[in-house]
Amino acid sequence: SSIFAAVEMAPRDPILGLNEAFQADTRAEKVNLGVGVYYDDNGKIPLLAAVKIAEEQRQKLAPPRGYQPIEGAVAYNKAVQTLLFGANSALVDAGRAVTIEALGGTGALRVGADFLNRLDPKAKVYISDPSWENHRALFEAAGFEVGTYPYYDASTRGVNFSAMLEALNSYAAGSIIVLHACCHNPTGADLTLAQWQQVIDVIRSRNLVAFVDMAYQGFADGIEADAAPLRLFADSGLEFFVSSSFSKSFSLYGERVGALTVVTADRETSARVLSQVKRVIRTNYSNPPTHGGIVVATVLSDPNLRAQWEDELAGMRDRIRLMRTQLVERIAAAGVTRDFSFVIQQRGMFSFTGLTAAQVEQMKDAHGIYAVSTGRICLAALNSRNIDAVAKAIASVIA
Ligand code: PLP
Repeated sequence: SSIFAAVEMAPRDPILGLNEAFQADTRAEKVNLGVGVYYDDNGKIPLLAAVKIAEEQRQKLAPPRGYQPIEGAVAYNKAVQTLLFGANSALVDAGRAVTIEALGGTGALRVGADFLNRLDPKAKVYISDPSWENHRALFEAAGFEVGTYPYYDASTRGVNFSAMLEALNSYAAGSIIVLHACCHNPTGADLTLAQWQQVIDVIRSRNLVAFVDMAYQGFADGIEADAAPLRLFADSGLEFFVSSSFSKSFSLYGERVGALTVVTADRETSARVLSQVKRVIRTNYSNPPTHGGIVVATVLSDPNLRAQWEDELAGMRDRIRLMRTQLVERIAAAGVTRDFSFVIQQRGMFSFTGLTAAQVEQMKDAHGIYAVSTGRICLAALNSRNIDAVAKAIASVIA
């Protein structure tokens, strides 16, 4: 018999399944609000001009493609640390940050999770309720038991902070807390800086381990402002983990460019940690690919390209904001009296619209508009041609 006789069909990934259904839909007016990707006003994934120039420079040099070091390019890892902790970071100067280039934010989370599992396989991992769906799967795949801490409050459309804090206060020492640095996926609801400080205080007093996921730096208020929670962690003196990604901020989704940064107590600890994280990588994919990391490092280290990138990132951020205000205006113009202004307050690419699974289904069936069944929509998939139709569809399904 087949060696695969006992292999069952795995459940479909909910978001990728949505994409397949969207592809198969023959209606011309169809809109896919399901994915977490930034599209420009023409509905295209942009190739940023700063990226294009860096790629052309690299193409001209026609560099050989030797292996990278296990931890990736030094210039790239330095650039990541500067984005996360600022140009004059005492933490970085003290040698407390270990950064390795990873295969996107997902790869960074997985390398971090595998390393943590070697340190304490019995530790429990807590993710926000709700969270990016891959957080749970990833940490479970690394061998952990995964629970949730209260986060989103549907009645206020904000964070249920007292419940979150109470939960954190009840966890066993050594528990791993996965936090979204900004642009919480899927809710768009972030903590205030004062709340972050309270979270950090509990993490310290309960001896918890923070794993901060930064997938959208620059999409809320700007590169520096969005890193403010990380700067509070840096000032706290704690040891912690950061996964970061350039998929969205550089529009380099398919190049898989991310980084894992482990912050330790001191330079000596950093050296030991790096040596072990390298073993995790060596036995997995050995070393990261060359292209994406070098392009990002080139852009970030050249003042002109860097300025260009910051402009382009601001352009993406501003367009999403415009889509937020326009969607709220147009839903009201379509005759809806329910207050949708929360969409303007939510940050990042997503909005938790409050649409029910049945309403989402109806949007798909009647209007060819695809969203995640939780009511999450991607604002970056709206544009000047489809926003009216989306607003009207929302109005019609909640009527
Ligand atoms: N973390 C969060 C919260 C995300 O939303 C995403 C992407 O959607 C990632 C991590 C992973 O990003 P990447 O595509 O770089 O692996």
